[in-house]
Amino acid sequence: MGPLTKIYLIWLVGASCDGCTVAVSGATHPRVEHLLAGIIPGLPRVEIIHTVLSVESGPEWVANLFMAEAGQLDAPYVITWEGSVMDETLAGDGYWMGLGEDPETGRQITSLEWLDRLSPGAAAVIAIGTCATWGGIPAAKGNPTNAMGVMDHLGNDYRSAFGVPVVNVPGCAPIGDNYLETAAAVLLFLNGLAPLPEFDELGRPAWLFGETVHRHCPRAGYYEEGVFAEAYGDKECLVELGCWGPVVQCNIGERGNLDGHGGCMQMGGICIGCTMPGFPDKFSPFYEAPPGSMLSSTTSRVVGSFIRRMREVSKTDKNMSTRWTEDAPSGWARSRTGPRGAVKTVHRFYSKYQHSKESYN
Ligand code: SF4
Ligand code: SF4
Repeated sequence: MGPLTKIYLIWLVGASCDGCTVAVSGATHPRVEHLLAGIIPGLPRVEIIHTVLSVESGPEWVANLFMAEAGQLDAPYVITWEGSVMDETLAGDGYWMGLGEDPETGRQITSLEWLDRLSPGAAAVIAIGTCATWGGIPAAKGNPTNAMGVMDHLGNDYRSAFGVPVVNVPGCAPIGDNYLETAAAVLLFLNGLAPLPEFDELGRPAWLFGETVHRHCPRAGYYEEGVFAEAYGDKECLVELGCWGPVVQCNIGERGNLDGHGGCMQMGGICIGCTMPGFPDKFSPFYEAPPGSMLSSTTSRVVGSFIRRMREVSKTDKNMSTRWTEDAPSGWARSRTGPRGAVKTVHRFYSKYQHSKESYN
């Protein structure tokens, strides 16, 4: 398709709290400003047509959508949809998501109608946030508006004008960098400079959502050693306070929330599974230990308490220089620092075994 010097990003909104927009506007890898300025090598300059951030408003703003549909924009466009898709057939004489009027008839046009009209010609459709990807909170049990994700609405046969299925970047709110990094990777593909990045079977960027949050959680070591927080503010693993991290695909553990800072467990919060299609119903009631966690946390507690003690013993030895025989000659020491008695004997044998294969022995 490339080389492209410019691409339009048409940002449409359904049942949304604008949290995704807030998350993206604070992203740093890459930054929105850098995309808008067109200073990222290999990427076209992005011109954004956004329901909140654009300078134009009213009919002047909606005119962009008519031009996109008529093929009158001077560059291809990518659609990003934020918020759930609500079923307009249930809105009676009204509508759930209005977005402009037909200038000739004055008829109200909905966001959903724009999605239907513009998605066939889009270079790509990216759903941002859990509402747009899977339905999210508006699609929770009861669901009076029959809310759903973009993929549900467009169907599994949907392909963009360039053959790309719906791309899903979930999270409530998502990590802004996850969205912009994915969008940048798709733009590189559209520009003909890179293959289509790898997506999983649900259209999530595989390199971002392939691991559980638990695997990269800063508290995972506590879980392994069977030490669990009893109250918020404790530093240990939060599983017994209701953390679902072991079964949730999310990368906030390694990426943080904003510019490497923050994140759920980093800030003392449990994982409630906000990136997952089953959110929120399948993770409720929130703040109660997942029933299945009892088996694994009990096992960790039993095995971990033994391992933890062994490590303490080993740590004592590793804190001793080979010059020191009994205790460290430290003025800071308030008690003995070196291993004694049976522990010392264990270390002697351990050390012999550890170094037995070294050539200078
Ligand atoms: S706090 Fe949650 S994600 Fe972190 S180690 Fe514990 S269970 Fe896993
Ligand atoms: S750790 Fe859990 S609650 Fe936090 S962002 Fe990831 S999926 Fe959502």
